[in-house]
Amino acid sequence: MSDFSIIPLYSGSSGNSTLIKAGDTNILIDAGKNCKHLVAALEAVGTAPEDIDDIFITHVHSDHIGALDVFIRKYPVRLYATEFSHRYLARKFVKPHPMTEDIRIREGGSVALNPDLTVSCCPTPHDAGGSVCYRIDYKGRSCAVMTDLGHITEDIREFAVGAHTVLLESNYDQRMLAFGSYPEDLKVRIAGDKGHLSNDDCADMMMHLIAKGTSDFILGHLSENNNTPEKAYHASVDYLARHSLIQGRDYSIKVANRHEPTTVTEIL
Ligand SMILES: [Zn+2]
Ligand SMILES: [Zn+2]
Repeated sequence: MSDFSIIPLYSGSSGNSTLIKAGDTNILIDAGKNCKHLVAALEAVGTAPEDIDDIFITHVHSDHIGALDVFIRKYPVRLYATEFSHRYLARKFVKPHPMTEDIRIREGGSVALNPDLTVSCCPTPHDAGGSVCYRIDYKGRSCAVMTDLGHITEDIREFAVGAHTVLLESNYDQRMLAFGSYPEDLKVRIAGDKGHLSNDDCADMMMHLIAKGTSDFILGHLSENNNTPEKAYHASVDYLARHSLIQGRDYSIKVANRHEPTTVTEIL
């Protein structure tokens, strides 16, 4: 068993939280849904909520912060977010949170949680101010959590280079979105430069990362109405096969579950 692992607790437009275990430190990236659901998911994977040390927030859309206010009142965690997100949370939530320490993380900056463990962030093009994605480096290995990406910027392409494991957004199937029931303005927002990443764009990013050494992928933040796990999976596997990259040989892939924890991915 590796001392470094990533476990999506739930992932999708209905709520997101990802547990990262690095030695004795337990990190959450985002805290969507509600506190009860988050605690149940943590307990299902054998982690007590009291044992969460740090929560990093990517941005303040409700599918990423729904559990946050209640969770940080009940459990002593350090909360990391960008300046914009902190200001938003301070307005939205009843302050102060007596047991927590709020820490601002600079967009593009990083924080060393201990001598072996560093969390870095990179700005993401998304329709919430102060949006970032995160990379976690531990004892020479690394993983990244990259969702809510309107498109892949040059900074994002470089940010995950060298990460062994990447949780990457595969939000929508272009045909399902185009022919689905969403109003036109919402379709434009989702597919826009500050919306979400399509299955095809995800596959293209995967090809780039595989060439740079990433071996394990978790597809996440799937749309409930404009995607299916099968479509997301096949869009990437088929695209990569057309470029002679074979699943199981050149890389591995799994799709994160929407409502319950996904199997542990050890970062080796
Ligand atoms: Zn969002
Ligand atoms: Zn989201």
